[in-house]
Amino acid sequence: MAILGLDSDVRSIVIFRLIRYFFIMLLLDSSDQNLRAAGSAIAQGKIVAIPTETVYGLGADAFNAQAVARIFAAKNRPTFDPLIVHVASASALDTVVRLVPPKARILVEALWPGPLTLVMPKREVIPDIVTAGLDTVGVRCPSHPVARKIIEYSGTAVAAPSANPFGYISPTTAMHVAKQLGDRVDMIIDGGPCTVGVESTVIDMTHEIPIVLRPGGMPLERIEELIGELAFPEKELKVFASPGQLKSHYAPHADLLLFEEGALARIDPASVPAHAAALAFDAPMAERLRESACFDMIYVLSPKGNMLEAAANLFAVMRTADEAGFSTLYAERVPDAGLGRAINDRLYRASKKS
Ligand code: AMP
Ligand code: MG
Repeated sequence: MAILGLDSDVRSIVIFRLIRYFFIMLLLDSSDQNLRAAGSAIAQGKIVAIPTETVYGLGADAFNAQAVARIFAAKNRPTFDPLIVHVASASALDTVVRLVPPKARILVEALWPGPLTLVMPKREVIPDIVTAGLDTVGVRCPSHPVARKIIEYSGTAVAAPSANPFGYISPTTAMHVAKQLGDRVDMIIDGGPCTVGVESTVIDMTHEIPIVLRPGGMPLERIEELIGELAFPEKELKVFASPGQLKSHYAPHADLLLFEEGALARIDPASVPAHAAALAFDAPMAERLRESACFDMIYVLSPKGNMLEAAANLFAVMRTADEAGFSTLYAERVPDAGLGRAINDRLYRASKKS
């Protein structure tokens, strides 16, 4: 092959470009024709990666147990971890759930479409593989117009977990999906980078005081304003109550060391190993870390310190650090309010390697 005659630097650039080109070939833009094709692929039992405002999802017909089983196989996801069922609008809710508690109705009316998953009693027709055998189901109506169109064109409800290998960082671009699951999915629709960037907030609505199963893209403060008090589960939960609560999750390959707010500025340089990078919340923090000269690289989540932007960048930054080959990542907790809770939750889980 002609490529063998090139010197090694040029050869690696050419190979890199070819691989990149191959991945881009896998992506389909979000033209109406492609969205219709994606919808009918789902209706035929195929699995399709779809953009949502939170992260990219891997979707299948929620009423087709075999199609859903292919999602678990593609992701290597344990079957005790239930999937979220996505609907095109609140009017489709009754096809999936048996009963909508009054507080759930209030949240649906005020906050859907959006990054909020509500766990409610499931209808018999939802296969056990979707809910991991639970008699409840998590349902969400995404706000991303591409996701909603695909679901609408599929004519069904779509069970979709994040489109990443189980336990690894969730994908926030179509390219992330192509790189990791490109050979295992039937189709990938590119809807651009996700604007929220962390998974949905999950609330169990089957209790009088609803229970927060996972902080996420919908701030808990907004939910409390609408329905009052929320409960937080006991520390030692059984895994099957909600596997989004598995401690190690959303984890990069690098070891992530998580510190309290402000602690990184005081770190002893001698304690920092080689090939270490740090995540800075904003530009002033990045500047302080640069002055300390402890780290080979500093990634900034949001130069202006905007929590929304930081959440949207979090997973992509962890991936970039992994791809750059850093073995240790240092991070600090951010202020624990609004989306900051979701960011702290994901940083915490990323720091817990099982
Ligand atoms: P993922 O699809 O990876 O964003 O994860 C979905 C998460 O939603 C699961 O890991 C659970 O934490 C939660 N979930 C979905 N359905 C239920 C349910 N019926 N009961 C409790 N938690 C659920
Ligand atoms: Mg996931």
